[in-house]
Amino acid sequence: MLRGGDLMYLVILGPPGAGKGTQAKFLSEKLNIPHISTGDIFREAIREKTPLGVKANRYIEKGELVPDEVTVGMIKERIGREDCQKGFLLDGFPRTVAQAEALEKILKEKGLSLDGVIALYVPDEVILERLTFRRSCPQCGRVYHLKYNPPLKEGVCDKCGIPLVHREDDKEEVIMNRLKVYYEKTNPLIDFYKKRGILIEIDGRGAIEEIAKSILEVLGKG
Ligand code: AMP
Repeated sequence: MLRGGDLMYLVILGPPGAGKGTQAKFLSEKLNIPHISTGDIFREAIREKTPLGVKANRYIEKGELVPDEVTVGMIKERIGREDCQKGFLLDGFPRTVAQAEALEKILKEKGLSLDGVIALYVPDEVILERLTFRRSCPQCGRVYHLKYNPPLKEGVCDKCGIPLVHREDDKEEVIMNRLKVYYEKTNPLIDFYKKRGILIEIDGRGAIEEIAKSILEVLGKG
């Protein structure tokens, strides 16, 4: 199914809490391609109080999508950088059909196209349980689950040694809205990429390592 070779232009898709970030961090190290998370880029901008951060925060705190023109411009700049010449793994982008079309256009201008879109499937009740127990490192973005994947030292990031946080948008009411937005705006991308023959469907339940293994197998890197 995949073009093969060493170049890997990938997207990871799935509802909030499907494990996109966790899998993306692992895969980007394994495949040696940059992990680009639009959520992480926005959160960094919010921490640094840049104009982008101030604008994005108005939407993120309500669980709404940041407008396409802001997000597309940001991703265009990011994938134009040197480190993306050998591939990338996009996490959290695209999230709308308009974003997916814009991405196709940006890649086409460079003579490129996506090699695979990994869709992680997880039922809503599992998502709610995951997000309410999720804690994240505000510095490196690494995520933990208080029950199933806790940090070595309680409340502290294994890598950065700083206190973990419960993202405001991981609280229950905001999660419900993020899920609604996901099904309305992002889920249509499943068909979009199925039609292009590059959708890789993966069961996102179960152990992190097992899921990672099945993704690598499909990518021919197992
Ligand atoms: P994430 O960490 O991927 O769950 O993203 C957190 C929040 O950032 C989302 O709930 C959106 O408000 C915003 N966001 C991230 N990526 C996008 C995107 N591609 N388009 C619009 N908003 C986004």
